[in-house]
This record gives sequence, C-alpha cells and structure tokens, in this order.
Amino acid sequence: MHRVHNFSAGPAALPLSVLEKMQAELLDWQGRGYSVMEMGHRTPMFREIVDQSERDLRELMHIPKDYSVLFLPGGARVQFAMLPMNLSANYPCIDFIETGFWSQTAIAEAKRYANVNIVASSKQDHYSYIPARDTWQLNPNAAYCYYTANETIEGVEFYDIPDVGDIPLVCDMTSNILARPIEVSRFGVIFAGAQKNAGIAGLTLVIIRNDLLQRQKLPHTPSVFDYALEAEKSSLLITPPTFSWYVTSLVLNWLKEQGGLEAIAKINQQKSDLLYQIIDEYDCYTNPIQKQCRSRSNVVFRLANAELEHQFLQQAEARDLFFLKGHAVSGGIRASLYNAVPLETVQILAEFMREFANTIG
Ligand SMILES: *Cc1c(COP(=O)(O)O)cnc(C)c1O
Repeated sequence: MHRVHNFSAGPAALPLSVLEKMQAELLDWQGRGYSVMEMGHRTPMFREIVDQSERDLRELMHIPKDYSVLFLPGGARVQFAMLPMNLSANYPCIDFIETGFWSQTAIAEAKRYANVNIVASSKQDHYSYIPARDTWQLNPNAAYCYYTANETIEGVEFYDIPDVGDIPLVCDMTSNILARPIEVSRFGVIFAGAQKNAGIAGLTLVIIRNDLLQRQKLPHTPSVFDYALEAEKSSLLITPPTFSWYVTSLVLNWLKEQGGLEAIAKINQQKSDLLYQIIDEYDCYTNPIQKQCRSRSNVVFRLANAELEHQFLQQAEARDLFFLKGHAVSGGIRASLYNAVPLETVQILAEFMREFANTIG
C-alpha cells in the first residue's frame, strides 16, 4: 500500500485508523451480514450511530443542554440559505463580518432573502486581516451576526470569539471545528461541512441554541430546510447521507481516543507554528496575513513568482507531498493541517521547505 502525505483543503485526509475501520467493516458491519450503507436509517442499528455520534460530539465540544445538534444533508453552503430562511423573518437585517471568500459567498446568498449589513470588511486589503472589533458597526436589532471562524482560502482565522452582546452569533466553522476547545454557549448557531475536519462530504453539522428554533420562517422556506422540523425528527426528515454520518461517528470516536480537543489542539498548534516559523525565517516565502490572525488550519504562502511555485509543487510531489496548490481564487501554496494530518507529516513538509529555500538561495 502506498499513501502520500496529504495536505488537501477538502475533502481532506482522514485518520488512517478510520479508513482501516471502514474497510474492515465495509462488507459486514459489526458482524451483522450487511454493510452500514445497506440498512434503513430508522432501524435501531442506525439509531445507535445517530445517538453515539451526538453523544460524542456533545462530549468533545461540551455542548450545553439547551442546544440541539443536527446532522443535515448537503454541504456547508446549504446553510448560507437555511440560516436567513430560518432566522431572519421580522428582523430588519443580518449583520455580517466580511473576511474572505467564504463570508463573501455567504453574504451574496443571504442577500437573496434578507437585508445584509456588512459591519466590517477587509476586502479592500485582500482579506489580509480581521477588522478590529471596535470598528464594527453592529445593528442592535439584527437577526444575528455572522462570521467565518477560519477563511479556508485566504488563510485568516479568528483567534477569539467576538463579543456581539445579545445578538445571536452565527459561525461557519467548516475548516476549524473540532480543532480546539471552544465555548459553545457564546454562539447562537455553529455549522460545519464534515469533509474538512469531521468526516467526508455529504453531511453538515449544525449546533443551534433551542430558542432560535422557535423563530418564524420566511414564507417559502422548504420544509426540508426547516431547522425546527429536522430537530423534531432527529435529523431523519430526509434520508440522511448514512455513510457520511457513519464516517463522522468514526472520526469523533478517533478524536476521543486522541485525548479530545485539548490534546489535538496542542498538536495543531505545533503543526502551524512549524510552518510559520520557516515562512518567517526564509525570505523566499511570504505570507500576507497579519500575524495575530494567521490560520492554524490552512497555511498559505507564496514564492517570488509562478515559475518558482510550480517548481516547489513539482518537487514536493516527487517526495509524496500532495495537494499543496493554493485555491484557484488566490493562487500560491496552501498546506491544510486538519486534525487527521499528523505532526510527522508536517515535519516532512517543513524539512522540504528548508531544503527548497536553501537550493534557490
Ligand atoms: C469548504 C468551505 C465551505 C463550503 O463547503 P461546501 O460543503 O462545499 O458547501 C464553506 N465554508 C468554509 C469555511 C469552507 O471551508
């Protein structure tokens, strides 16, 4: 078997032991004579996966009792529409912090359903920082205040949860959920597509404070987009992506085996520190993001020109260092360091970066 050092931004690397478990159980799940994909989502057997994954997520993230946990079909972008549909009726606007491609995309979608108030933006400066909290022009009557905890493409991350008073805080955590402990009680809604740090494509985790389930929906909200209905049906309204849900349950179990979020956070910190240290040490690498908000999930850097970046990527691949090309929107190099990327893998990349820097002088 040959496996590369995988720095994919998403869908991303999975822990090897999770893949092995999937493989071992594929034809005959738990000795029952069928695969996990070949049984009803309402069976007591699938219910075990449903209940265990919710218990594990609640335990790992210390989710308070007054929050519901939903496992919804579709990608993170589905939430860009579901949020305004479910939460913005009878409110004058939604407040948004614009810090990169993903918040910009969420704003464009929300505009189709609601008034959008961009309370702060770093767009003019190519999304290279997070606007200081004291510059934000919040509307005290906003339906909610929305931000993106980690901008996966630009490589910008909020290190602190912003204080927005009594306005419910809504957060896209697709690229850094489960990367470290966070205080869930500070949020109205947290959501994350599973394919970066919590499993494979097809499933999105939504953690929502129960009082928000009571809000009136926009008149044409499809019933399949109704948070309250999905909560009432234990996320089984639509046949859920059962295999994706199963993989998430394996990933959550793996995280518990690693010692939970405190333990994984320490490793994650070492991983990103290692790469930023090299970027700062060698003149040939540049990272345009202000130091106090450099992403720990997606380390983005550039070389002097496209030719050098091409050489870097080619030589990296020759050493089994894969998927380091930056997103088409931003170019350059990007190393995604999600939970399933081991420290040793990042050390191998770091070694290569030093060598490459030395050879080009
Ligand atoms: C990848 C990503 C998305 C989009 O996810 P889809 O599942 O493709 O809709 C949204 N937000 C962030 C922060 C992401 O990293």
